[in-house]
Amino acid sequence: MQDNKTFRAETAQWLEANCPASLRTPITSAEMVWGGSQLAFDNEDQRLWFERMRERGWFAPGWPAALGGGGLNARQARIVEEEMARLGCRQPQYNLGIWMLGPVLLELGTEAQQREHLIPMMQGRLRWCQGFSEPNAGSDLASLKTSAKLDASGENYLINGSKIWTSDADKADWMYALVRTDSSARKQQGISFMLVDMKSPGITVKPIELIGGKSGFCQVFFDNVSTPVRQVLGAVGEGWNVAKKLLQHERAAMSKFTEGGAPSHDALAVARPCLQALAGQAQAQAPLQSGAGAAQAAVLRERLATVLMDAQAFGLTHVRVKEQAMAGQDISGPASIMKLLQTEQEVAKYELLTHVLGQRGLSWQGDEFSADEHAICRSWLLSKSYTIAGGSSEVQLNIIAKRVLGLPG
Ligand SMILES: Cc1cc2nc3c(=O)[nH]c(=O)nc-3n(C[C@H](O)[C@H](O)[C@H](O)COP(=O)(O)OP(=O)(O)OC[C@H]3O[C@@H](n4cnc5c(N)ncnc54)[C@H](O)[C@@H]3O)c2cc1C
Repeated sequence: MQDNKTFRAETAQWLEANCPASLRTPITSAEMVWGGSQLAFDNEDQRLWFERMRERGWFAPGWPAALGGGGLNARQARIVEEEMARLGCRQPQYNLGIWMLGPVLLELGTEAQQREHLIPMMQGRLRWCQGFSEPNAGSDLASLKTSAKLDASGENYLINGSKIWTSDADKADWMYALVRTDSSARKQQGISFMLVDMKSPGITVKPIELIGGKSGFCQVFFDNVSTPVRQVLGAVGEGWNVAKKLLQHERAAMSKFTEGGAPSHDALAVARPCLQALAGQAQAQAPLQSGAGAAQAAVLRERLATVLMDAQAFGLTHVRVKEQAMAGQDISGPASIMKLLQTEQEVAKYELLTHVLGQRGLSWQGDEFSADEHAICRSWLLSKSYTIAGGSSEVQLNIIAKRVLGLPG
């Protein structure tokens, strides 16, 4: 077995040679390449990078090579991630299936389920959406009502009901969904985790318009949608436990946006406009030490120092939690803590940035301001939504209180 130092050097060399320079810059949401039947590239570099990483199995370096992964051990897989981050390489494919469903399929899926779903994901042919939330079941997810009943043959479930806030359901090929297979059992116990082909007859997808216009959200309706029994992941009635595992992966992915999730600005990028603002103030309001200007400067300095220190502390803690995960320790508690911290810190960072940029920080489109300024405004708004997605901040606090601190309910 190759030693880690040599493996790191060879990985860096390969990435330098194969990741096009244009894809070693910060990515915007619009530039993300999503896998699936609607896979499309904006340019030749994106296609090349996608194909090279696919051939190497590095969409998921730690998955078994027989299922399309890279076949690396946990330490080597982490080295690939670290080197990609260090060299600024973009993710070649974005796919909920890889971050969230895949690890659960590897742990609990039958061999047939793994072959059916993981291999096409590794080829970039399958895009997944998440069918958990319902109109009356968000934070209280176990109240979900979408039902799945066995048909007369006993070989298929018939699904009826509706899912809401399903991100990109209109572009997804498959959905992993929570459905109620037993309405007489206690809330959490009658739920099963099912893999549903979005092309099945009886599925209607309606995009949801928000106050700002078109959104990625959809509502999905199920009208007697037939799904084979073999598409239940884990045991029937055990879906709640499967979902908890999946949510742990979702929260882990959301707790470090820069490694797979939404694009983010580095905390240091926030510092520059803050320092410029402070310098501008110093020139305009000398001496800065007195009056309102001084107070404002002090507040700005403190906010900037907090953002930078929080980012630094988060980065170090993130490394520790990754090591715990690699050592096989249970990180369900840390995943909630990290999700809460990261999403709240993102909001604080973008609020500081928009505050300092003033009107420029609120620009959404048009030629008057730069694309980067539009991106900051969009990221600011998006950062708020991530404190809700994957379980709101209040829900994470409840989980931490109960499961990490052992406080009474
Ligand atoms: C960007 C984004 C993407 C999403 N994508 C998906 C997706 O792909 N698939 C999917 O299934 N869902 C998705 N969701 C939905 C998301 O999971 C829910 O919005 C979330 O779980 C909250 O549920 P809710 O909207 O029904 O709010 P509610 O549960 O009604 O909560 C309303 C408010 O009450 C608070 N609250 C609720 N219960 C408690 C409590 N016990 N203690 C303290 N406070 C509480 C909440 O924190 C929140 O502030 C997405 C949401 C967002 C924002």
